[in-house]
Amino acid sequence: MKTIAILGSTGSIGTQTLDVVRANGDIRVAALSAGKNITLLEQQIREFHPRIASIWSEEDAKTLRTKVADLPVEVFCGMDGLHAVAVCEEASVLVTAIVGMIGIVPTIAAIKAGKDIALANKETLVTAGHLIMPLAARCGVKILPVDSEHSAIFQCLNGERQNPIDKILLTASGGPFRGKSYEELKTVRVEDALKHPNWAMGQKITIDSASMVNKGLEVMEARWLFGVSLDQIQVVLQPQSIIHSMVQFMDGAVMAQLGTPDMKLPIQYALYYPERRFLAGERLDFAKISSITFENPNPDTFLGLQYAYEAARTGGSMPTVFNAANERAVSLFLHRKIGFTDIYEMIRDCMDHHTVIPDPDVTQILDTEQSVYERIQSRS
Ligand code: NDP
Repeated sequence: MKTIAILGSTGSIGTQTLDVVRANGDIRVAALSAGKNITLLEQQIREFHPRIASIWSEEDAKTLRTKVADLPVEVFCGMDGLHAVAVCEEASVLVTAIVGMIGIVPTIAAIKAGKDIALANKETLVTAGHLIMPLAARCGVKILPVDSEHSAIFQCLNGERQNPIDKILLTASGGPFRGKSYEELKTVRVEDALKHPNWAMGQKITIDSASMVNKGLEVMEARWLFGVSLDQIQVVLQPQSIIHSMVQFMDGAVMAQLGTPDMKLPIQYALYYPERRFLAGERLDFAKISSITFENPNPDTFLGLQYAYEAARTGGSMPTVFNAANERAVSLFLHRKIGFTDIYEMIRDCMDHHTVIPDPDVTQILDTEQSVYERIQSRS
């Protein structure tokens, strides 16, 4: 029986991971962690009986310990809690479904402890891909992508490991603002940005999808996961979200993975790789699909994508600046403190005022994150 641990079990990816576990019935959950959602975490503990649970604040941990005093679960908090979940002895796989750069340190600890990583947390590879990929190789652990695009590419590469990739075609729906001008983006509201046409996801990634910063983060992830250059990654708009990404090989052949937009598919694929299991849900009905269309993203509107390529080309600590500035700006946008296009302006400002550290270690990455937060705070 496979045993897993989950960082961020109460979020969109975390709960869908537990849906997959529930539906299959043959995975044991050894450790769970949440940020603030104590009610849901308690329910999850009662249903999945982990040995370890973690919640962010000390106060919530105290409350949770009282609530689950009848169960043999040890409750931790803070970074120690995330570490305990990440290195939990029984687990062979860590699902990183936590949002933000807070996921980096526990992910590194899990890799060092020999756990395979079912990777949803984008920030890990975006900011520390240069550390994570060689570390995973040295420790002999697999990085199994959960993000639907990277899972699609991973699936397209099955049986093709020896064949060089010519190009990765990373598909994007274009989000709710596809076709809008930059001027029009200035007045969009939080509610508009949270209406993703095809996918139901956590708030932060939904805003990132609307700004296409998400696609920029995915470009950076893909580069590390699949060992290609940035010039080999092309973003293609495919508004129906039927094709989840494609790989073009040297002979011109293009392999694509298609499916309905359901994150449980890539989650389940990562958990059981290389086995495919039955997954309940809708299937593509090709008799009903009238067309699959493609467009180029508009670089003048979706500046986030442009800045992401720039940050990735610069390398070193610049992707951290891009990511941290966006993380803070999205939070301000969600709290209605800034407008939508201010997200781009904040990223631009932070990138323009950063002195790049060429090959940052984890401390330098986290310090860079902090300095970006301080810059944004001092200017807002
Ligand atoms: P959500 O916001 O839905 O969930 C985030 C999870 O992280 C929650 O369980 C939250 O806990 C937890 N969390 C937040 N802060 C802390 C903390 N300080 N300590 C411990 N746990 C914390 O995000 P998503 O599930 O949408 O996304 C998670 C990651 O996966 C992101 O990096 C995202 O980019 C990536 N991803 C998501 C996809 C999706 O479809 N949702 C697709 C591909 C990638 P709580 O709710 O209890 O506060």
